[in-house]
Amino acid sequence: MQPKAFLSHAPGYWPGISPEKWNDWKWQLKNRVTTLAQLEQHLRLSPEERSGVLLSGNKLALAVTPHFFNLIDPDNPDCPIRRQVIPRVEETWTSPYDMADPCGEDSHMPVPGLVHRYPDRVLFLVTDRCASYCRYCTRARVVSGVGEQELHTNFEEAFRYLEQHDEVRDVLLSGGDALLFSDDKLEYLLKRLRAIPHIEFLRIGSRVPIFLPQRITPALCQMLQKYHPLWMSVHANHPRELTLEVREALERLANHGIPLGNQSVLLAGVNDSVDVMKNLVQKLLMCRVRPYYIYQCDLIDGSSHLRTPVSKGIEIIEGLRGHTTGYAVPQFVIDAPGGGGKVPINPAYTVYHDQEKIVIRNYEGKIFEYPEPRAPIAANQREYLYS
Ligand SMILES: *Cc1c(COP(=O)(O)O)cnc(C)c1O
Repeated sequence: MQPKAFLSHAPGYWPGISPEKWNDWKWQLKNRVTTLAQLEQHLRLSPEERSGVLLSGNKLALAVTPHFFNLIDPDNPDCPIRRQVIPRVEETWTSPYDMADPCGEDSHMPVPGLVHRYPDRVLFLVTDRCASYCRYCTRARVVSGVGEQELHTNFEEAFRYLEQHDEVRDVLLSGGDALLFSDDKLEYLLKRLRAIPHIEFLRIGSRVPIFLPQRITPALCQMLQKYHPLWMSVHANHPRELTLEVREALERLANHGIPLGNQSVLLAGVNDSVDVMKNLVQKLLMCRVRPYYIYQCDLIDGSSHLRTPVSKGIEIIEGLRGHTTGYAVPQFVIDAPGGGGKVPINPAYTVYHDQEKIVIRNYEGKIFEYPEPRAPIAANQREYLYS
């Protein structure tokens, strides 16, 4: 067993930059790689990447923070970091099932920017900007400012809706990435939400701890901890993303009492193997992050080259469950196309089930039998046994 390495790649392609600048999140944002010329200064692009950069610019902007760019292996055209953030020409192709709004969010917005799909919780899209842009972004239609649609969040209207809907006890801030706001602006949002008595639970979905760990300053963490219970879902796809700087940022959040989960997207050529995923989830535990979801890649326009068969996700869960720490095993889900929400997809561990017994298979493939209670329970109450 190899020990897991948390490596720093700073300053990498930016030699001569002082640590003060490097560690300043505003410097990182100002110096993002956004043009073909900048890319070609550092990397030898393939024809597919070159065309991708030239042709995808009116769909989803190109932007990569220096921190994340440094994780790209210049000598490996199939580098898993590269595939996530450097456009490829396949992005401009549309396959028959591709959609602009694969999760049907636009039709579930009672007010601009607020997606209310589930009974007790809402997704609050607070900005259209991210630190870097994931090429498979499920919200490419509204983020980065270059696509056909724009995100027009109306904060006051959203607060009024939330005040009037006392069934909402959980608000998830996403976007875009809420952690790109200044501390003051983010605090204003959190304060307004905390002032609504029926909102019990706040969470932020963010890739900033991975793309821009410099943003996770002590001042930010001290502000966030005033609004507990506040949880955070981060987004790491490959173990290489968990650098020393990222681990420090995650530890700082955890030290301020913020429980951390991770959401990965299953991507062809990035993390579609049990070995890579096992390494990722084990490293996440070392950063005090609980793997939460693995998503089947949404049917977003121009993502077919990154999508994997559903069987791959099932194989990964089977390769984790029982083989490693239970806390390290995320739930594999498909966000149902058209707006059905997240649906759990599980390996079949139930071999047979009737009123007398259930026959089950363990992680090694061994078969076991568990007898049902003598008085049979109603069929409509048995469902939970299958989950
Ligand atoms: C993912 C999501 C949520 C949160 O779902 P959980 O399973 O509670 O994490 C809420 N609203 C929308 C629209 C979502 O897509």
